Amino acid sequence: MRAMVLETPGRPLREAELPDPEAGPGQVLLEVRACAVCRTDLHIVDGELTKPKLPLVLGHQIVGVTEDGRRLGVPWLGWTDGECRYCRSSRENLCDRALFTGYQLDGGYAERVVVDERFCFPLPDGYPDAEAAPLLCAGLIGYRSLRMAGDAERLGLYGFGSSAHIVAQVARHQGRRVLAFTKPGDTEGQAFARELGAEWAGGSDERPPEELDAAIIFAPVGALVPAALSVLAKGGVVVCAGIHMSDIPAFPYELLWEERVVRSVANLTRADGKEFLALAPQVPVRIEAEAFPLEQANVALDRLRAGGIRGSAVLVP
Ligand SMILES: [Zn+2]
Ligand SMILES: [Zn+2]
Repeated sequence: MRAMVLETPGRPLREAELPDPEAGPGQVLLEVRACAVCRTDLHIVDGELTKPKLPLVLGHQIVGVTEDGRRLGVPWLGWTDGECRYCRSSRENLCDRALFTGYQLDGGYAERVVVDERFCFPLPDGYPDAEAAPLLCAGLIGYRSLRMAGDAERLGLYGFGSSAHIVAQVARHQGRRVLAFTKPGDTEGQAFARELGAEWAGGSDERPPEELDAAIIFAPVGALVPAALSVLAKGGVVVCAGIHMSDIPAFPYELLWEERVVRSVANLTRADGKEFLALAPQVPVRIEAEAFPLEQANVALDRLRAGGIRGSAVLVP
């Protein structure tokens, strides 16, 4: 099969011909129809996440079809032990021995992939393959982050990429008000956010017209944490949704005082997946996806790095 392979962090992926993977017990072989690109993939390529299997096939937002014709979605959480203290307390996202798709397990930047079927999801009808793929991480972990924002009415989204474009729609559906923050000067990103229901959009260096009750930070920029705290109402929460972030600069305690909270969100549980995939068609979440042929994975990654993707980038073998 054709695959795009990471051999050394810091180097582009290499197009390679690999032997077809074989399904072991409990596993299923999928023909990959689409695999969305995630910011996490860039962190792995750049060596900021330090424990990938190598060589590695990236990709953890996979839409594939089984040999008997069933369409399944494959998320980041690829395997858990089911027995550690986290698994036993409904927190399998924190499993001590978890294995992640496209990181410790080969993923979907390929024509075929083998996965543990217990961690796959049936996908809602009505989403073509390329539009279903971004639901599996951008949507799903975005949704978990939104839940961590509690019942916040005025929601700030920092970084308006693949995840935020989905979360904005869900938040509006829930009756929240959305304010979007992009890189300063990114007027296209701000216009995109307004199209998806943001009542205000501006640069991350701007003060919004009102205080926020919660902020979700999707951009991997630690300086956004004190920036978001500084526009948060009392008791508000800042949710860091990404797996990696540059260092958070020191800030005065005053920004955290009055019961403001800073927290991260890690991975997903299968319960998150079921809940979100049932909700998405009800909103209905509309996915803006730009498709790239599989062999253009490096182009897609570079475009994502440069902030040049409107919505989600999706690889199609
Ligand atoms: Zn992801
Ligand atoms: Zn566990």
